[in-house]
Amino acid sequence: MTQSVKGMRDLWGTELAYFQFIERACHQIMESHGYQEIRTPIVESTDLFSRGVGSTTDIVNKEMYTFRDRSDRSLTLRPENTASVVRAIIQNKLLESNDPLHLFYIGPMFRYERMQAGRYRQFWQIGAESIGIASPESEVESIIMLFDFLTSLGLGDLSLSINSVGFPEERASFYVALKAFVKDREQAFCEDCRRRIEDNPLRVLDCKVSSCQTALTGHPEILNFLSNESQSHHEKFQKCLQSSRIPFLSNPKMVRGLDYYTRTTFEVLSSDLGAQSALLGGGRYDRLIQDLGGPPTPAFGWAIGLDRLVSLVMKKNISLPSKPRILLIPVGETMINDAFELARSLWADGHSVELETRGVPLKKSLSSANRKGHSHAFILGESEKAKGIITVKFLMTGKQEEWLLSEISSRILHI
Ligand code: AMP
Repeated sequence: MTQSVKGMRDLWGTELAYFQFIERACHQIMESHGYQEIRTPIVESTDLFSRGVGSTTDIVNKEMYTFRDRSDRSLTLRPENTASVVRAIIQNKLLESNDPLHLFYIGPMFRYERMQAGRYRQFWQIGAESIGIASPESEVESIIMLFDFLTSLGLGDLSLSINSVGFPEERASFYVALKAFVKDREQAFCEDCRRRIEDNPLRVLDCKVSSCQTALTGHPEILNFLSNESQSHHEKFQKCLQSSRIPFLSNPKMVRGLDYYTRTTFEVLSSDLGAQSALLGGGRYDRLIQDLGGPPTPAFGWAIGLDRLVSLVMKKNISLPSKPRILLIPVGETMINDAFELARSLWADGHSVELETRGVPLKKSLSSANRKGHSHAFILGESEKAKGIITVKFLMTGKQEEWLLSEISSRILHI
């Protein structure tokens, strides 16, 4: 039998119900903060990511699903969505008025990564982008929304790590210091880091190999090499976080795996996620829009790993809001039309009702309802019809009641 592609999974049942619950909460919070949804294609021209994410990053070098289409164009399944959002706003001229843009997205991303728990080759991200504002306060506004969102899902105990990576031209003297530091201890670093220190020195700081992390003890810190403006931006950002009562930790090693970040970078980790502890990451990207052919425009954004968010919410036993799930069972061949009528009026009132149309004996319908997790069976036979009632069976307890047909819709609201 053909199996799904390695690292790509089907979603259904309880896990999918958690995805949908979180997606609904996301729509609510984003809309209340004035963020509008944007949907971009899953496939883009490969050069969007090599130019946007950076040709020396692991994502572009090792992890992209890139292929040629029938017209020999090089296309790539999006490994992240910020570059696509930026392409979309330039292409659709959404920046012309110079007003700030607040956008969010939910969708699958694709990276050919080594398989581990919590790491997939098709995974989902929720992201928010705040475009056109350079201030540290706009970063805190976005982070407040993020924390409001996570808190609304019942996740309170998450840690925020922050750093600043400045602008590319400010990094030159830092690279000289970092290169000298690594060269002095070259044998202690992995082969990848020995290569990275030449073509993308920042990436050495977030190498996942534990001996490299040990070898980095006492490394030069990027913040000390940044311009006064970038340092003061970072101080204002921290002050604003403090006055908004959002606790954070400074992490001079946190540089993120994408090259477009400038100044503020951040991550939220959860110890409950095990080895893949990063729940989300983000930062400022003041050069990306210009690099991709748009006008110089500051921007800030983040992306949450939805698969990891779902596993966290499920691990914490946060229960889903549940509506009664009803199976309406007509008993006897003559009752199906009455059942259709009743079901349609209940659907119109927004109730969740499944209709038994198999014409099987009542006992069989009731056992299916139990197995499928219905909460109630509504039984409608000739005798119920004659009395103008329905028999309601509470499937958890086996209790039975008779309800007047005219009162069903309002009584469902109270079960
Ligand atoms: P990034 O786009 O690399 O900044 O990642 C943002 C978030 O997406 C991470 O913190 C993870 O939660 C999630 N993520 C990234 N890669 C994967 C993956 N391969 N599988 C599952 N989640 C991922």
